[in-house]
Amino acid sequence: MDAKRSSVAPALLDWYDRHRRDLPWRAKPGEMPDPYRVWVSEVMLQQTTVATVRPRFTAWVARWPDVGALAAAQEAEVMAAWAGLGYYARARNMHAAAKAVAAAGGFPRTEAELRMLPGLGAYTAAAVAAIAFDERTVVVDANVERVVSRLHAVATPLPRSRPAIRIAADMLTPDMRAGDFAQAVMDLGATVCTPKRPRCLLCPVRGWCDAYATGEPGRYPVKQPRAERPRRHGTAFWLEHGGRVLLHRRPPRGLLGGMLALPTGPWAQEPPGFANAPGATGWRMLPNTVEHGFTHFRLRLALAVGSGAGHEEGEWWPIAALDGAGLPTVFRRAAEALRSGR
Ligand code: SF4
Repeated sequence: MDAKRSSVAPALLDWYDRHRRDLPWRAKPGEMPDPYRVWVSEVMLQQTTVATVRPRFTAWVARWPDVGALAAAQEAEVMAAWAGLGYYARARNMHAAAKAVAAAGGFPRTEAELRMLPGLGAYTAAAVAAIAFDERTVVVDANVERVVSRLHAVATPLPRSRPAIRIAADMLTPDMRAGDFAQAVMDLGATVCTPKRPRCLLCPVRGWCDAYATGEPGRYPVKQPRAERPRRHGTAFWLEHGGRVLLHRRPPRGLLGGMLALPTGPWAQEPPGFANAPGATGWRMLPNTVEHGFTHFRLRLALAVGSGAGHEEGEWWPIAALDGAGLPTVFRRAAEALRSGR
């Protein structure tokens, strides 16, 4: 344990200085990190890959280059710009946090104060404090969980092992360059200590890795088998009139809250058919469906098409400009299927 504690951080930091990934939100060596860019990237990267986030981050900071610009934006624009990145409450929280930061004249600099901003969870607060302000915090994301589980060959399955992983990550974190250390572990997890087939022969901390010593590093982290998610059914309605399609804005709170979406009826255990269809036109069901996985359930959407009179309540959006509506992924996919099948 002592050898790990004293050796892993220097070896990883040395490796990081030579192999760090060049990412658009990272400060170049010698530059001061920008807390706004660190924060936006960390929120975007939760549950989303670096490849997806790269262009989205670049477009975001081109549109809102600093926290003041984001604070001054309309919430609907922010929500639309987030479309496809999932967990839309994050976008609403980011907007609220931007307003708080702009009103205070700048970002707070400590993990504890960052944690008090709307929607800034434990992970984001720790990451921003470490990376932007070099506070010694313990940053644990999925990459860190994997690397630490392997370094210690943690036999307890996730998520039960989380408290032990956190303690181990804390012991490995150096007093200086905590932000670089966090990014080094993230980079190692993304490029060398990958989920499948870790490239141990390239690893700078192989000499202290218990999982490597077992000969089966890919067995870690041990995971609890995932429970089957229940399935729900719904119907997405494509109501068209004069080159426009009817969209509804979803209620502000709850799943996909505040987002524009195709009208749907209830989401239920059995297919709800035409329940709560907007307008009273002759609806026609398409033969195909669209599936989408949310965190706690899977949704199967039946697809219904009809033509409206143009006075049904909602927003009549030009079909040719539907990409600009910022539909969440499930409705974007339903809209594509409905457009091609109508
Ligand atoms: Fe991961 Fe292999 Fe390095 Fe251990 S030796 S940390 S399993 S890449």
